[in-house]
Amino acid sequence: MDNYPIEIGVPNITEFELGNTGVPYVWRWDSCSPGPVVMISALTHGNEICGAQVIMELLKAELRPTRGSLVLAFSNVHAFNTFEMKNPDKSRFVDEDFNRVWSSERLESSEGKVSLELMRAREMRNLIDQVDFLLDIHSMHEKCAPLLLSGPTDKGLKFAQSMGWPRDIIVDQGHKEGRRLRDYGDFNNEDSDKNALLIECGQHWEKGVIEAARSITGRFLLQLGIVDESALPMEWSAPTLVEQRAIVVTEAVVANSYEFVFVDEYFGLETIPHKGTVIAYDDGEAVITPYDECILVMPSLRQLRPGVTVVRFGYIA
Ligand SMILES: [Zn+2]
Repeated sequence: MDNYPIEIGVPNITEFELGNTGVPYVWRWDSCSPGPVVMISALTHGNEICGAQVIMELLKAELRPTRGSLVLAFSNVHAFNTFEMKNPDKSRFVDEDFNRVWSSERLESSEGKVSLELMRAREMRNLIDQVDFLLDIHSMHEKCAPLLLSGPTDKGLKFAQSMGWPRDIIVDQGHKEGRRLRDYGDFNNEDSDKNALLIECGQHWEKGVIEAARSITGRFLLQLGIVDESALPMEWSAPTLVEQRAIVVTEAVVANSYEFVFVDEYFGLETIPHKGTVIAYDDGEAVITPYDECILVMPSLRQLRPGVTVVRFGYIA
């Protein structure tokens, strides 16, 4: 499998290490007016650098909230610090996926080895507990249009729809391997007003990925009413709002072996017309679509190992 070319610059974020929260690489400002605590998080995966670029631009522009509070975080900096042009996929995480440790069981467990990622999550947890609205910025292994992941709740879907961009909202449960930051605590509690979205901006290192990250970040901050539009960086432009569609994920296909192969080249959002179509083989066993008009969500074998999600099946709601 060839690497995609790296068409974007790798941001240098070392000047932001200190933070102002007591937690390295996490910044927070409180306005004088009441309002929500809004957090933008980047580098949940160390190789997904578009979010880091966008947060760096906001820090350099000295964006401050006019209502509520703004939190800007570079999350898995340990992984990002290992980023290498020659092997960019390798810096996704150091010991384990930072985006799979967000259950109270994992965060509070005293058993087993404490990974760098678990340590970082514990370090950030107090701050995240104060957050009302989170946008977690990601990018994808394969070249696919941006996806806004709303999680499994109705409030998540409504929140995603309030953004009006991008076209595709993915309603999903997350991963069997462990809980995502987006699904942490009250973000997934239907009775709480807290809410969170995860944006997949495009292929990790393609040109358009930064534009997408700027678009959703600007939109998110303006929709929540905590900043003035004129305070956003000059080069940022508002996305053209589109009619959105919700794709409900019914099943995450998890590889059982290293011998998992797709029968065709898939990049994401392909519609497979017929139920029972073979799309892959896992150690010789056929993987088939469960219904007609099945949409493939984020197929990729770039992080293949037993237990990892390699594609999800969804339908248009
Ligand atoms: Zn990611």
